Amino acid sequence: MTQTYPGAPATLPSPAPTPAGADGGAGAFLDVRNLSVAFPTDDGLVSAVNGMDFTLERGQTLGIVGESGSGKSVTSQALMGLLKGTSAQLSGQALFQGKDLIKMSESGMRQLRGRNIGMIFQDPLSALHPFYTVGHQIEEAYLVHHQASKKQARAAAINMLGRVGIPSPEQRYDEYPHHFSGGMRQRAMIAMALICEPELLIADEPTTALDVTVQAQILDLMAELQAETNSALILITHDLGVVAEVCDSVLVMYGGQCVESGPVDEIFYDTRHPYTLGLLNSMPTLTGTSGRLNPIPGQPPSLLDLPSGCIFSSRCDYAALAGADVCREQRPELLVETGHGKRCHLSSRQLITIRTSR
Ligand code: SF4
Repeated sequence: MTQTYPGAPATLPSPAPTPAGADGGAGAFLDVRNLSVAFPTDDGLVSAVNGMDFTLERGQTLGIVGESGSGKSVTSQALMGLLKGTSAQLSGQALFQGKDLIKMSESGMRQLRGRNIGMIFQDPLSALHPFYTVGHQIEEAYLVHHQASKKQARAAAINMLGRVGIPSPEQRYDEYPHHFSGGMRQRAMIAMALICEPELLIADEPTTALDVTVQAQILDLMAELQAETNSALILITHDLGVVAEVCDSVLVMYGGQCVESGPVDEIFYDTRHPYTLGLLNSMPTLTGTSGRLNPIPGQPPSLLDLPSGCIFSSRCDYAALAGADVCREQRPELLVETGHGKRCHLSSRQLITIRTSR
């Protein structure tokens, strides 16, 4: 039976985005090729991200989803150059308008951050300085990237504080981060990122700490600014409802790998990986009658010692269907067909049978 997910597209509109993992990518606005990140530890090498490929065009929104520890945030940190100077071992390319972010120097990245590439973090305290007023910090971010007077910058900062839903923004402008509640700090950080009008915005769980009303307001604002500036957005989240609402394409990560990618409507209605099916099954449905959610049983694999076969095999209900020991012994490649990629040994026919029997 086809299930209906809150916020999911009701029909199958024609997908516009360049899907993650798709073939092509030459000259793409952002073209990530074979990106891998590993962290040496006392216990061995932690393979946090393994061979990620995706492209993104201006005006498009890519959602990256997966459980905690799947490599979503590490991918964004690598793109922002935040792993430079750490022990992280990076390989592959991330071509942003032709420039490789992975090889770029820290000074080169500093020039890109803010105006060209902005980031909204999960933790607002990591982005807001405790010694400066919130308004001052937003104003400074604006002045770095705009030719404007102090007065104009102040007006722009107050306007942006209002747009992200901070009440009495003129008064709040002169307050310090510790005067703000957690949700307000999150909104202030979002204001600081958006005021720079970045060409590429990477938002890591931007609305997780906010209530649903404010969340909707922020998502609307991000969409509005994206339309105004034709910017690209990477939205990292575990909330498939948000993905359904704002994303053009989706990349599903598990154990540091992309296991499925494609246009958002196909991910919801033509799902081709058991892990994605499990994620969808664990979210509330409009047609569900039991009122129970079904989390995926088991734990993600250790990134210190990934299995040689399919990395989802220990939690997959359908490994036997694929035949003998193939799932335990052979790591599936990411197969991309007409912009929809899956890393699974099951045939299309088997996947249709599974989907229709749910
Ligand atoms: Fe499940 Fe096998 Fe597909 Fe992995 S390859 S997701 S174990 S069916």
